[in-house]
Amino acid sequence: MRAYKAKAVERIELPDREAREHYLREAGYNAFNLDADAVFIDLLTDSGTGTMSDEQWAALLRGDESYAGSESFQRLESAVADVMGFERIVPAHQGRGAENVLYGALISKGDYVPNNTHFDTTRAHITNAGGEPVDCPIESEPGDPFQGNLDVDGVRELASEVGAERIPAVVVTITNNSLAGQPVSIENLREARTVANDLDARLVIDACRFAENAYFVTQRETEFAGESVADVAREQLAVADAIVMSGKKDGLANVGGFVGVRADDDELYEQARQRGILYEGFTTYGGMAGRDLEAMAVGLREAVEETYVESRVEQVAELGELLQEVGVPIRTPTGGHAVYVDAGEFLPSIPHEEFPGQALVCALYREGGVRGVELGELAFPGTERDQLVRLCLPRRTYFRDHLEHVAETFAAVAERREELPGYEIVDEPEMKELRHFSAELRPIE
Ligand SMILES: *Cc1c(COP(=O)(O)O)cnc(C)c1O
Repeated sequence: MRAYKAKAVERIELPDREAREHYLREAGYNAFNLDADAVFIDLLTDSGTGTMSDEQWAALLRGDESYAGSESFQRLESAVADVMGFERIVPAHQGRGAENVLYGALISKGDYVPNNTHFDTTRAHITNAGGEPVDCPIESEPGDPFQGNLDVDGVRELASEVGAERIPAVVVTITNNSLAGQPVSIENLREARTVANDLDARLVIDACRFAENAYFVTQRETEFAGESVADVAREQLAVADAIVMSGKKDGLANVGGFVGVRADDDELYEQARQRGILYEGFTTYGGMAGRDLEAMAVGLREAVEETYVESRVEQVAELGELLQEVGVPIRTPTGGHAVYVDAGEFLPSIPHEEFPGQALVCALYREGGVRGVELGELAFPGTERDQLVRLCLPRRTYFRDHLEHVAETFAAVAERREELPGYEIVDEPEMKELRHFSAELRPIE
């Protein structure tokens, strides 16, 4: 049961089929190019797209826009200390700004940085700082409770190959965004702590979805059964030397981010702070307006409320169940923020070089005005990965009938799946890694 009700609403409209065909053609068959008002149910991302609470809207008015020493900053600092256990923060305009601040301070040319799986902006910032990002996910079976875990032995192997002195930090991303939003256990985080100690490296947690991860821990890790999400949220971060955070995720805000460091780590704090001033803004706002600091301060406290986070994660599971009921193959168990559909399996007649994921994304929009995102051949050119479509749920935004509409749309697509065309690219940017954001395609006749 959702422990909130709507107080302000936004009109959404399903354009008729002819209009949807037209918009899709105009968009070059790329959902990123669609105008948002042409989309009925928008599952493109959960980043900054959620609904703020009345308390957050009220807090906006309290925003102290002083350049230095803003009260709003102090309220954010207290919220981070209470909820996440980090006493010192360097604010940033969003998560990647925080990554630039922290990784630029930690990493030198020729370093290696292991992570359970690097999120794309993390990978880019580590590379940009001269480091080599190395993915160390565990091998898991469908149904395993903590498929997001770090392969600790893999980190040790890396260290024996390149030398421990070349590894300044071990990173763990909770939940593992690039691995279907799968959670990480506290047992695994403790092992990561031990490895970091052995390598004399810092342990960094990418805490973007720390509240969702904490909820999974209370549900799946025996040691923490019956504990509160708020306690577990702090417990899991207690092992880290530093955190990076995007306020657009479990900050329940539309923008913002920060780096958290330990009170006694003067050296790292000072380095991060100076980089913050250089790239983000003065230490007490970091690229955010005072009102944004307020919204995030309230949002962080709400993120670990039992009733909120339970309905959040369970809504993702609910969408997964509705899809399975109409025969859609999905990754199980569902993770914290999105349902991942195996488009290769759903549309077996479309070969992977004709982008079955993109074919599904286009069909979902054409049939029901639903926007998802392809994570397969188009997004990751030349890698032998599964052809996935991700359906992200914005926080506190949609209701069950919206999810039912998504499932009905899938059922309608399934009926026509033999007729669906594959796609070819007609225009793509020079940097292939970024092509899914702007490429134009056309259906193959
Ligand atoms: C979103 C995200 C980031 C980057 O945050 P932005 O606010 O989008 O810049 C970093 N790491 C993870 C795991 C994320 O999900």
